[in-house]
Amino acid sequence: MFEPFPGDTGQVAPADPKAAYERLRSAHLNAVRASLADHVARLAWPRERIDSYRTERLRSLLGFARERSAFHAARMGDVDPATATVDDLARLPVMLKQEVDEEWDRIVTVPGTDRAGAERVLAEQEWYSYTPSGLQVFSSGGSSGVRGVYVWDWEQFVTLACLAWRWQTRAEFAVSAPDEGRQARLAVLEAGEPPHASTPLFDVATVPWMRTFVIPAAAPFEEVLRAVTDVRPTHLVGYASVVGRLARAVAAGELDIRPVRVSTNSEPLGEEDRDAIDTAWGAPVHNLWGSTEIGVQAVGCGRGEGLHICEDEVILERVDAAGKPVGPDEPAARTLATGLAGRAFPFVRYDLGDEVTLLPGPCQCGSAMRRVADVAGRRDDDFRYGDRVVQAAAFRHVLGTDPLISEYQVRQTESGADVLVVGSPDVPAVVAALGSSLHPYGVPAAAITVHIVEEIPRTAATGKLRRFVPLGR
Ligand SMILES: [Zn+2]
Repeated sequence: MFEPFPGDTGQVAPADPKAAYERLRSAHLNAVRASLADHVARLAWPRERIDSYRTERLRSLLGFARERSAFHAARMGDVDPATATVDDLARLPVMLKQEVDEEWDRIVTVPGTDRAGAERVLAEQEWYSYTPSGLQVFSSGGSSGVRGVYVWDWEQFVTLACLAWRWQTRAEFAVSAPDEGRQARLAVLEAGEPPHASTPLFDVATVPWMRTFVIPAAAPFEEVLRAVTDVRPTHLVGYASVVGRLARAVAAGELDIRPVRVSTNSEPLGEEDRDAIDTAWGAPVHNLWGSTEIGVQAVGCGRGEGLHICEDEVILERVDAAGKPVGPDEPAARTLATGLAGRAFPFVRYDLGDEVTLLPGPCQCGSAMRRVADVAGRRDDDFRYGDRVVQAAAFRHVLGTDPLISEYQVRQTESGADVLVVGSPDVPAVVAALGSSLHPYGVPAAAITVHIVEEIPRTAATGKLRRFVPLGR
């Protein structure tokens, strides 16, 4: 049974969008597994090979972007993509989040794709989906609290999933030879639903004998705990704070699982959580620093300190306030990223808003990929009401994905929260959505207020937006 695909004349889609998605998704994961061995091998590449590979990739990206993106063509100046080097990037302007928002239709390179169409996919899809040309559309509140809309093409997703998983895969194969009799169970503690990219990126069975189980990380913790208990995972991947909390539950005798490998992402991994994971399981931890714009910037190898930059697929530049690169030991005002796999929507010298510190010297794991220290970023603060804890994600999943909200700040009150939003959302609908998101935590909808404001004051020292302001802080 077929019906017209909404907003796309001449296309048909099966009546069950979830099943159609799962079939394509399954084919996509076959492509990821096929490419993983290549990506694992790159971890042992000598410096010169990394450099020559990424130079070719950079020329390819710039050449494509100049031809197919009016935005990038206008900014290329006298830089010739055919001969450009990594150092030449400094001759291009910095790309800002606000420009991405305002110039979306001039940046995207996929024929027939524009912001309105991408928004329509987000609004109309009943589950994760692929467009007829194989794009996935995601939205995110982002670390700055400003909503963005992103498109990833088919090949890009294959690369990003390999970047996210190759360190773990290398380590798994180093421990023991592949064995068809083995069974692995991966618990995936991510957003769990559209429009966030985290679930497709991390719900990946990297070997044929692995099964995955998605557990929404923003659910009340008692539910998460129950689900994890039922799954009995051998491997964990998820939001750093949730994995940390599971580790503390082990220490408290509330959970009994023994994962052999732990992967964390989406939030900075604090000392407190890292120590708890160490104490609970003593398992290798692969922390990941990423963004929906670039995908994956750096991943921990599970052995040495810090995170290895994905130097074959991402170019990071630490620059001063004027966008000029600074030396490894000099303080940087911003970190710029160029995503070499992002052809559908090229990000070139994109300001990530995070601060990174380079780690000197080689890693004990032997990889020549350079490292950054754990990225501190800003940690979302959970709200505590007496002995109840409400995760920031419960707010973020509503406010960060509403297309009519461009910025928000949540201020904790005695019995709920005061929410400031910039934009033109349907306020009663937002209050209702927050009410149902917070209801499981025991916070009544009546205690939530939402105000539309012109501007949200930023932290004076850093200029950053503080999205969550706990009571008394
Ligand atoms: Zn390493």
